[in-house]
Amino acid sequence: MREILHVQGGQCGNQIGSKFWEVICDEHGIDPTGKYNGEASSDIQLERINVYYNEASGGRYVPRAVLMDLEPGTMDSIRSGPYGKIFRPDNFVFGQSGAGNNWAKGHYTEGAELIDAVLDVVRKEAENCDCLQGFQVCHSLGGGTGSGMGTLLISKIREEYPDRMMLTFSVFPSPKVSDTVVEPYNATLSIHQLVENADECMVLDNEALYDICFRTLKLSTPSFGDLNHLISATMSGVTCCLRFPGQLNSDLRKLAVNLIPFPRLHFFMVGFAPLTSRGSQQYVSLTVPELTQQMWDAKNMMCAADPRHGRYLTASAMFRGKMSTKEVDEQMINVQNKNSSYFVEWIPNNVKSSVCDIPPKNLKMSSTFIGNSTSIQEMFRRVSEQFTAMFRRKAFLHWYTGEGMDEMEFTEAESNMNDLVAEYQQYQDATAEDEEEELYEDDGEEAYNE
Ligand code: GDP
Repeated sequence: MREILHVQGGQCGNQIGSKFWEVICDEHGIDPTGKYNGEASSDIQLERINVYYNEASGGRYVPRAVLMDLEPGTMDSIRSGPYGKIFRPDNFVFGQSGAGNNWAKGHYTEGAELIDAVLDVVRKEAENCDCLQGFQVCHSLGGGTGSGMGTLLISKIREEYPDRMMLTFSVFPSPKVSDTVVEPYNATLSIHQLVENADECMVLDNEALYDICFRTLKLSTPSFGDLNHLISATMSGVTCCLRFPGQLNSDLRKLAVNLIPFPRLHFFMVGFAPLTSRGSQQYVSLTVPELTQQMWDAKNMMCAADPRHGRYLTASAMFRGKMSTKEVDEQMINVQNKNSSYFVEWIPNNVKSSVCDIPPKNLKMSSTFIGNSTSIQEMFRRVSEQFTAMFRRKAFLHWYTGEGMDEMEFTEAESNMNDLVAEYQQYQDATAEDEEEELYEDDGEEAYNE
């Protein structure tokens, strides 16, 4: 068994995390009491159930999940929600102080006080595993708890389990959705941590999620519930290959090996097709060519960056439902051939695809896309500009220094993010010819004489 340990932190992290569990419980035939209530295809539903669930006495399946927060509100509502009873009560760890959207409180003061209690639960779960493959953390980067305490937890886990994988589902802030001005600070300080201490980050950008709701799904005032519906569909799609039997990206390490050519460039754009809105039960049915076309479309990306402004280093596509593998392969080849300039030519075969028989709920087929695109720098540039505008005048800095932070950490975070942007740009500009030219120059005289 290759278990994954799930941690959700802060308001957003707990919201999207518990939605994730609702969706995957449904897909694996686990009811809100933890009982298996599956269908004829039970073999497939239960074959890899241990990746995300522990088996308790009486045949109950319990999410291997730890829930943390610096205030009790969100957890109270999860506990009293439809799947509240499925979680292990000991695994709710919370404080009363709140982080007040202040990364420093989450990372250095309030969060630091609660972190050992969280680590105790994490350790207990990890010890119960047969062969833990790694961790997944759900959090937002714009607030204080998921962001500050979330990245504190990630660094503590990295210290204690250096050879395990760390995957994050990170919600990036957008002024379209939130009205807290310091979010670019919190996000930049978090990104600084994620570059160093996470292995793979699924970028869920509220800016893009809002645009999808507003433009594509025609929702005039999208709520967090609407955004989270898109997130849970994506999380289900991304983890499908980890949860069901199959070949491609069957564990966190294989996923990383396929997608990450350079260790710092581990921030992924994810796309989903078909896009559906919350509560709509209509049966959207698409063909493989339509799914493929939509999945690669900039409008379907959960990150506000246009892939046509950059190039793909690598990409993976997971199709779900009953369909012809041959048709999937043909369609994928077709996309690459038609758009070859958008794929770096110095990584041959950089696009992989696979098919999982089990479709998500209420859909006959779907597809999920994970791309490592240099265009993601657009999103980092957006955050960086917002950060710099305030930091130049040291606006709001006293809230952070008041918690004991040094201004230096802001400067370092800013330059780490700018370096990241520069690295994406460097590989975007790199061509196979660069290297040939260099060889040619070394050999200049002879080549000229020939
Ligand atoms: P924390 O509890 O201190 O971690 O703070 P929050 O999770 O509330 O962080 C605030 C950021 O998360 C802002 O950028 C919000 O727009 C975003 N956010 C809060 N709740 C949700 C949610 O349920 N869904 C989404 N997509 N974003 C959220």
